[in-house]
Amino acid sequence: MPVDDAAETAAEAEDRPYSPFNVATDMPSQTNHAEADRNHYWLGRILVLHLANQILYIGPHWYCSILMLMFILGVGFFHCSTVAGAGALQLSGGLAVTLLSLYTFLRCALADPGILQKSPEGEDQLPSVRARTCGICQIVQPRGCQHCHFCQVCVEGYDHHCPWMGKCIGKKNLCAFYTFLTVAFSSLGYIMISALAQPPT
Ligand SMILES: [Zn+2]
Ligand SMILES: [Zn+2]
Repeated sequence: MPVDDAAETAAEAEDRPYSPFNVATDMPSQTNHAEADRNHYWLGRILVLHLANQILYIGPHWYCSILMLMFILGVGFFHCSTVAGAGALQLSGGLAVTLLSLYTFLRCALADPGILQKSPEGEDQLPSVRARTCGICQIVQPRGCQHCHFCQVCVEGYDHHCPWMGKCIGKKNLCAFYTFLTVAFSSLGYIMISALAQPPT
C-alpha cells in the first residue's frame, strides 16, 4: 500500500545516518561484529579493508588523498627528472625524499584514527555522571572523543577531520600525521635547496 510504503520510507530515512553531502542514501551503517569476519566492511563512512595481514581504513574524502598522492609523485618525478643529469647522488636524494614522503603519507592516510566501537557483548563502559553518549553511534564517549559528521564515527582523541588524509586525525594516527608533516616539509625544503644549488644550464 502506498501509505505503508511512505511510512516505511520515512522510518528508513530516520535510521539513515546524517550526511553533510546528502549523497549517502545507501550508505552502510555502523558495522556489527558479525560482519567483521569479512575482508571489507564499513564503520560509518570509513571503509575497512583486510589486505595481506594489513588493515586499511579508507575515509570518505579518499579522492582528496589521491590528489595529494599525485602531488607528491608529481613533485618527486619533476625533481628527479631535473636532477637526473647532475649525478647519481642527486637522483638518489630525490628518490629518497619522494619515497619517504609517500610512505609517511600512506601510513597516516590508511591508518585507524581511533574509531570507537561498541564492545561485542554490548557491554560498553558504564556511563558515569559526566560521561557523554553519542546520540548517533549510541556509544559512551571517553574524554577527548568526538563524533565526526563527515566520517560518521566517534573518534578517540579527536584532533580534526583532514580531507587530504581522507578522514579524521585522532589518537591512533596523530603521530603518523605529524611525522608526515615533518617529512613532507623537510622534503620540500630539500628539493628547493637542491634545485637552487643546480648550476644554470
Ligand atoms: Zn558518534
Ligand atoms: Zn572525519
